[in-house]
Amino acid sequence: MEAKFPPQYNPEGIETGLYEFWEKSGYFSTSIHKDGREKYVIVIPPPNITGVLHMGHALNNTIQDVLIRWKRMNGFNALWVPGTDHAGIATQNVVEKMLRTKNIDRKTLGREKFIEEVWKWKEKYGSTIIFQLKKLGASADWSRERFTMDENLSRAVKEAFVHLYNKGLIYKGKRIIHWCCRCGTALSDEEVNYRDIDAFLYYIKYPLIEGGFIEVATTRPETMLGDTAVAVHPSDKRYKKFIGQSVRIPFVDRVIPVIADEKVEKDFGTGAVKVTPAHDPVDFDIGTRHNLPFVIVMDEEGIMNENAGKFKGMDRFRCRDEIVKELQEMELLTKKEPYPTRIGACYRCETIIEPYLSSQWFVKMAPLAKPAIEAAEKDILKFYPERWKKVYLNWLYNIKDWCISRQIWWGHRIPVWYCRVCKDKMPSDEKAGVFVSVDEPQKCPYCGSREIYQDPDVLDTWFSSWLWPFSVFGWPERTKDLELYYPTDTLVTAQEILFFWVARMVMAGYEFMGMHPFENIVIHGTVRDKTGRKMSKSLGNIIDPLEIIEKYGADSLRFSLISMTAAGQDVFLSPTFYIKGRNFMNKLWNASRFIVSAAERYGEKVILHKKFEQLNLPEIWILTSLDEVIEKVNSSLNEFRLNEAINLLYDFFWHTFCDWYLEISKVHQEQEELYFKEKVLPVLFHTHISLLKMLHPFIPFITENLWQVFKDYCDLETESIMISSWPEKTGIQREKNIMEEMETIMEIITSIRNLKMRFGVPVSKQINCYFDRIPEGLSARIISKLAGVDEFSGFQGEKKEGLLIKNLREGRIGMSFAGIIDVQKELKKLYKEREKLQGYLEKIEKKINSPDFTVKAPEDVQEKEREKKQELEELLKNLEKDIEFIEGKG
Ligand SMILES: [Zn+2]
Ligand SMILES: [Zn+2]
Repeated sequence: MEAKFPPQYNPEGIETGLYEFWEKSGYFSTSIHKDGREKYVIVIPPPNITGVLHMGHALNNTIQDVLIRWKRMNGFNALWVPGTDHAGIATQNVVEKMLRTKNIDRKTLGREKFIEEVWKWKEKYGSTIIFQLKKLGASADWSRERFTMDENLSRAVKEAFVHLYNKGLIYKGKRIIHWCCRCGTALSDEEVNYRDIDAFLYYIKYPLIEGGFIEVATTRPETMLGDTAVAVHPSDKRYKKFIGQSVRIPFVDRVIPVIADEKVEKDFGTGAVKVTPAHDPVDFDIGTRHNLPFVIVMDEEGIMNENAGKFKGMDRFRCRDEIVKELQEMELLTKKEPYPTRIGACYRCETIIEPYLSSQWFVKMAPLAKPAIEAAEKDILKFYPERWKKVYLNWLYNIKDWCISRQIWWGHRIPVWYCRVCKDKMPSDEKAGVFVSVDEPQKCPYCGSREIYQDPDVLDTWFSSWLWPFSVFGWPERTKDLELYYPTDTLVTAQEILFFWVARMVMAGYEFMGMHPFENIVIHGTVRDKTGRKMSKSLGNIIDPLEIIEKYGADSLRFSLISMTAAGQDVFLSPTFYIKGRNFMNKLWNASRFIVSAAERYGEKVILHKKFEQLNLPEIWILTSLDEVIEKVNSSLNEFRLNEAINLLYDFFWHTFCDWYLEISKVHQEQEELYFKEKVLPVLFHTHISLLKMLHPFIPFITENLWQVFKDYCDLETESIMISSWPEKTGIQREKNIMEEMETIMEIITSIRNLKMRFGVPVSKQINCYFDRIPEGLSARIISKLAGVDEFSGFQGEKKEGLLIKNLREGRIGMSFAGIIDVQKELKKLYKEREKLQGYLEKIEKKINSPDFTVKAPEDVQEKEREKKQELEELLKNLEKDIEFIEGKG
């Protein structure tokens, strides 16, 4: 046994070997399954090729793996499609940075060479995260791994674009968009992270041509260089007389009108606002309504341009400071007041977004949103937890058009071409010479000219990932895979990408496939540190999942992560959160060793029964309890409450199977060999193997390892636990009196053990006990063995000295400690113990409540102290209960 079954479980090396065994055996691939099985499909949220496995990925992919393994064992043709995302801006940034270390600039390198560099980088590093997912145990079908820039998926992107363009749902428009001056590209509304900052509101006097001033307020004074009007509300009495007058803007000497517009907020600042149509979305609308000029005052890198006069060449924020300084000197700045406001930042590089007037491609979203709204309203899509349905719908009800063009190089080039000849013929017609094509065109379809060129922009990364649930199966071809696997079943995702990705996939599903892309949307929380902060490099609070896998095994990580993740809630991890999992693996290992060693004595394989007959009380009880667990675990998994399922299994294994049944089984082993061999062993094996199977989706490695060991001791159904069948209930009759009888036995044993522990008496020390109803036969033997009782008597003529009587749910038990301890003396010891605990508790309470501590101590120290306090309170409560009992009854 030792060789196969060392006394300690050590996952190192074992996990890699088992993963290779699964992969080689083809268990991840759907092809090994017979036709006719019902399919169950999950597509992975494709991680970025720049990604490195973090706790969020670990959680997201463990959930998917649990579901896929569970369904596979339930006889489904289970398919998990893996892949990666090209991650336009993120990858371009990484490669640019890499090139800079070699003193190479993207722009001098040129577009084609740069893209070559990105591909080279991708070949080298782009699969890092895939390797890491394998380490986690992900049972995805790697033969189907897809990449959003694969040839077929790129074709899908072009096909989708052309389809929407021809339908009139894609258009080019000059709009104020979110511009990242560092990335040099437009961003969609969803790609902007908002945060609250303390800014300033500047009050500036604009000189009127007719004499006097009109005062405006702004948070971005540098944009005044692009002002083309001052606007007031038409009903604002204060300004009525100014409407129609003119203003000269300082620095650029432009004369602009004072106009009236309903959209001006009378309460903001002075009630008069500067209008900068090229640098603000509200002003853009005002500008359009009033036919104002659009003056752009900075370039795409946030540097002031020729329209900024003497500020040309200056960074936008330095220009702000300069302008404020000069306005002060000119006595045109009347006030500068603190002003809390929200600003947007680039989700890739955190640079402050510039609202910027620019020509971009947009998708009209309202028509696409319609079926996606209906799908949720009619519960064709089911959200777990359900509250996300409202969030999803609210976004769709208020959906805005989607800016899909990006001014970067890495990505799917927009399949739009322009003809120079046609354009020259009709320069005023914006649509002249514009055409779309899936295949690379050779000439203009209107005039036949070969003087054509492609739009330089690429598409938003999400324009390829919104097609993911069908592009991975070969769309736009009508493939057999599409027919078999679309729509998919469950999507497991983080909440941050609900709009970015989930909602858009639903819209694309209906538009291109005429059907929802998945049925269940499982949305999990964010992984945070113990104090609730997001994990980030700058905070130094990252817990690296790979390090935990390396040291303690993927199972420990998976187990701990899932067991503490309540459905949809954020997860708070302490740096030692994996310990619960590690302890569980050890317990599982030890219990398995015990079972195997019990079987080993007979030198023959244990026959696993399908039907159980003529069993004694403990066997009926454990099988009935197992049936109950199977049922509960199934219903938890069906509702995607994975933590509930794993915690049920944990409790059953640890506190029912190990704490009780394994101990009780020893009674037979010693006293009735035959019954033990023929009845107990099969029940032990059956229960344990059923448990291993149910645990397998959560902790695949150790359960497979044990399966391989158990093969030598009993007849197991399959080569691997991965392809074994999910346990079914034994169907054993649940008898109420049997369950109650067992509970009484357990209550008696617990009462005696507790008291012995309190008195420092070893459990094995035999005592006499008195009962209203004296346990007999097997029950008595179990109690005797597990609680150390050598005499069972009725309540007649018992000696009062040293006797403690406890009420049970039914009847009473008297425990005699005469001649073993002096109860009164022990009681005094317990009083002292109580005093000590109270002292500790007071101390800790004082510490926790001191203002110094709550302000100065780090959050995790505070947390630890609070935990300590809770533990102490629990100890004290139990001690007081026992003292009260001993005082009353002793
Ligand atoms: Zn950026
Ligand atoms: Zn043409």
